[in-house]
Amino acid sequence: MALDVKTQSRNEFMSGGYALPWAFSPEHDSWKTTLQEFGINRIAPEAAQRTIEEKFDPDLALAVGALGAYGLLIPTEYGGQGADLRSLCLAAEETAVHDSSLAVTIHVQAISLALLAHLGKDRPELLRETLPKAVTGETFISFGLTEPTGGTDAGHIETRAIKKGADWVINGSKQFITNSGTPFSKYVILFAATGEASGAGRSPISAFLVPLDAKGVTVGPLYRKLGWRASDTHPLFFDDVRVPGSALLGEEGRGYGEALRFLTWARLPIAAMCSGLARGCLIDIDRFVADRTSFGKPLGDHQAVAFKTAEVAALGSLARVMTYDGAWKYDHGHPIQQEAATAKLLAAEAANKAAYIATGLLGGYGFMEESAATRHYQDARILTIGEGTPEVQKMLIARLLGMGQR
Ligand SMILES: Cc1cc2nc3c(=O)[nH]c(=O)nc-3n(C[C@H](O)[C@H](O)[C@H](O)COP(=O)(O)OP(=O)(O)OC[C@H]3O[C@@H](n4cnc5c(N)ncnc54)[C@H](O)[C@@H]3O)c2cc1C
Repeated sequence: MALDVKTQSRNEFMSGGYALPWAFSPEHDSWKTTLQEFGINRIAPEAAQRTIEEKFDPDLALAVGALGAYGLLIPTEYGGQGADLRSLCLAAEETAVHDSSLAVTIHVQAISLALLAHLGKDRPELLRETLPKAVTGETFISFGLTEPTGGTDAGHIETRAIKKGADWVINGSKQFITNSGTPFSKYVILFAATGEASGAGRSPISAFLVPLDAKGVTVGPLYRKLGWRASDTHPLFFDDVRVPGSALLGEEGRGYGEALRFLTWARLPIAAMCSGLARGCLIDIDRFVADRTSFGKPLGDHQAVAFKTAEVAALGSLARVMTYDGAWKYDHGHPIQQEAATAKLLAAEAANKAAYIATGLLGGYGFMEESAATRHYQDARILTIGEGTPEVQKMLIARLLGMGQR
């Protein structure tokens, strides 16, 4: 019996990416439509300007809160959506089609809220006090792990919390902390060494919820960045910061391990951003070649141009399949260690290649700051760094193969 071969339409591919009908429910489809409308009407118009001016836009951040993107993984009793990882990946992906700075703003808020809900699961009063306002974007909670001495070896932490009576006193610093200096920034989930170093020379690491307006906390100056320029990134300094015992999240000495295990899935929204960024590149190429002729014919009619465009499309498809394969498995309770690391590794490389090709295809315009391809090129670089460099992803994959560092 001959099978009827169907083909996804050009319009569907350009606007929604490589079709993955197995991955999504009608609710996901409708959420994606909402995100796409928001993207076109609210995100795209000023995206170039925000990046050029390095401008975090508070009104846009609140509009994202009203849309429900920050609290996707938060139970409804705390004001969240009680949705799944695929929904968060869709938010990251559709936002990154236009503006990766906004996508990372959403990502960091969403993972920080999910981590707080996880570490504070036995403390409903704390969650009632903190989560509802964070879900709407009235308050931001940042994630403070990386230190000036290095982020890859994240278990080597020099920030220290010492117990003084019922309180903890914290000294140290963090760097590259997203969402920590916005008008809404209220807390940081801070990882600090507590207790004595073990035989391996490492101290147990605990997690704390530290108010950014506590005495002794300094939010350092905004970093000037190559990409994610309209996102908000600062160093944080802690000088004899005294917090009550209730600031400790989870068990003493276990916060870091618990957070790392829990946040394995957090690589997948970054892979989703790679897919969105690659689609943004494709859209910009499509717009450019439609208007341009060379050697007497439309630019897209030259096979070399068509091949490069096809490669951008294929790279975005790779990122998309890897993302939603992992997210679907997570949402259905399957293991995702291998999937999350592989998706992050390959999708980030794909996004960088797509942005490189796109800027080349736009010629001189691909070097101008107002062009979307230029913005995607700037934003692509960090996708191989944040949530773990390629070396980290390879360490994780190698470990699953029983090789390398354990
Ligand atoms: C814009 C931006 C936003 C960020 N937001 C946050 C945030 O909100 N919260 C947060 O906690 N962190 C955040 N980070 C930090 C980010 O997670 C780290 O930059 C990243 O993990 C890498 O750490 P590092 O910069 O200290 O590099 P290092 O750890 O110093 O690594 C330098 C290089 O050495 C390589 N390397 C290290 N060890 C090995 C090894 N054993 N084998 C092979 N290669 C190795 C790395 O892969 C890398 O290429 C952000 C960073 C940026 C740039």
